[in-house]
Amino acid sequence: MATELKAVRRHAAGGGGPLRTGAEYLASLRGRDLRVFLFGELVAEPVDHPMIRPSINAVAETYDLAVRDPELGTAVSPYTGERINRFLHVAGSAHDLVLQNKMQRRLGQLTGTCFQRCVGMDAINALHSVTFEIDAQHGTPYHARFIRFVTDMQKRGFVIGGAMTDVKGDRGKAPHEQADPDLFVHVSRRTAEGVYLKGAKAHQTGCINAHWLLVMPTMRLGPKDRDYAIVGAVPVDAAGITYIYGRQSCDTRSMEGGEIDPGNRKFGGQEAMIVFEDVFVPWDNVFMDGEVDYAAMLVERFTTYHRRSYVCKSGVGDVLIGAAATVADFNGVDKVSHVRDKLVEMTHLNETIYSTGIASSYQAVPMKSGAYLNDDMIANVCKHHVTRFPYEISRLAQDLAGGLMVTLPSEQDLDHPEVGALIRKYLKGRADIATEDRMKILRLIENMTLGRNAVGYLTESMHGAGSPQAQRIQIGRQMQLEFKKQLAMTLAGVGPETAAEVSRDLTEYMARVFRTDRPS
Ligand SMILES: Cc1cc2nc3c(=O)[nH]c(=O)nc-3n(C[C@H](O)[C@H](O)[C@H](O)COP(=O)(O)OP(=O)(O)OC[C@H]3O[C@@H](n4cnc5c(N)ncnc54)[C@H](O)[C@@H]3O)c2cc1C
Ligand code: SF4
Repeated sequence: MATELKAVRRHAAGGGGPLRTGAEYLASLRGRDLRVFLFGELVAEPVDHPMIRPSINAVAETYDLAVRDPELGTAVSPYTGERINRFLHVAGSAHDLVLQNKMQRRLGQLTGTCFQRCVGMDAINALHSVTFEIDAQHGTPYHARFIRFVTDMQKRGFVIGGAMTDVKGDRGKAPHEQADPDLFVHVSRRTAEGVYLKGAKAHQTGCINAHWLLVMPTMRLGPKDRDYAIVGAVPVDAAGITYIYGRQSCDTRSMEGGEIDPGNRKFGGQEAMIVFEDVFVPWDNVFMDGEVDYAAMLVERFTTYHRRSYVCKSGVGDVLIGAAATVADFNGVDKVSHVRDKLVEMTHLNETIYSTGIASSYQAVPMKSGAYLNDDMIANVCKHHVTRFPYEISRLAQDLAGGLMVTLPSEQDLDHPEVGALIRKYLKGRADIATEDRMKILRLIENMTLGRNAVGYLTESMHGAGSPQAQRIQIGRQMQLEFKKQLAMTLAGVGPETAAEVSRDLTEYMARVFRTDRPS
């Protein structure tokens, strides 16, 4: 609680209004005394750490975009009546969801990496309807508490991190069956004032760059997992939290002081493990406690939102396609037919990701709470594309880049009085392009397909919001094979007499497909 008070005091000293610009956001992160470990040492001030700063810059861009382009980056809150950052808005229409996707693609284009705020956005959207439905069944006060929390975040313009994935231990066992009970975050004790959390969350995107964390269960739970069915909001600087920073491929390049070798020197992503050692959450910030039946609903709704949030990758893909086209240009082969065809293929794959994400948002339906939820089936198809297409787009980019992408000398050699001249002479492509510019583009492709930002563009595309099999399960559940068999049997003359009979009761996914009212 003391740390929360500290954060509130600091905010009040700054005028108390919402954080609006990237610079204000950056200032708000200073002096929080977070317990962050990196390279076996406590980090004195994450904001000033050269390896951490690019990830903070990426989040700052979500603020600056909102200032530059408020139609895209902000929305009007029904709770404050003010324009707020779109990452803090609960979608009240399909159009809101579509605009989330457009904002995500734009930020992917501007940063070439993960800008980290979608997990929190998708978490508040999912919790809006889930808390409402828990209350309707159990008479609990979660929804009103949750709306108070969201309103407060909107008024302050804070970043919310979504902490869902537990470290999970033995994947074949439920939380209560694990050899160590802390392998899933759980309530270690309850008092009249609130609950205490213990355990650890892995792979937490942007958690150190956030102001608050929403802690949520990671999977379907049974009656014996009651203490694991906990949702709570925790300030990032709460007592008892330790962050252990995740390494990324080639991450120390940003500590070498150069401009070229990091590939993308300004922007990067961030993941860390969060360890909770009896972290206190007052009842006002508890939005589920023991309602095990609703854990699966929360995970499913969150992943439905989040699996189409992966249109962010189409924005990052735009950058990679641009880099591949530029390197072909610098190499003097931009007009060659197979090069052009590869760029077309990359674009086709990239737009397929975008198309399914945006289609999922357009085909949204209202929940009982009034929040809109995008289409589950198409969201899973979108995410499943994302587990594959960025890898193929990267393969094609590496094809067009040539081997130099992985055999380039270092920036220090380029700066050396003797070998620098040799590098400039022998690693030139087209005569009118500086060798240094060719190196910069090659380093960007390396960064996105093998280096720091391959974390977001590739492996996160594979596992984020659930590994590929999780999407196949959801697609399988919703594929309505019986209905499709009926269609076939009708035409083949072995089933119902008429097509009208088959389509009389279009249900579930098909009902959403054939809805004829305009999306609101
Ligand atoms: C870069 C990155 C950022 C992320 N950001 C966030 C974040 O901000 N917040 C958050 O909450 N999470 C985040 N995640 C976590 C993400 O949701 C998980 O990585 C994902 O759910 C897979 O879990 P896992 O990594 O523990 O893999 P594992 O569970 O170890 O899975 C590995 C393989 O085993 C299979 N498997 C696992 N369990 C079973 C089982 N019971 N039965 C059958 N097969 C099984 C999987 O299908 C997969 O093929 C992030 C992940 C990454 C990589
Ligand atoms: S991977 Fe994409 S969807 Fe997930 S937080 Fe990063 S930018 Fe957002």
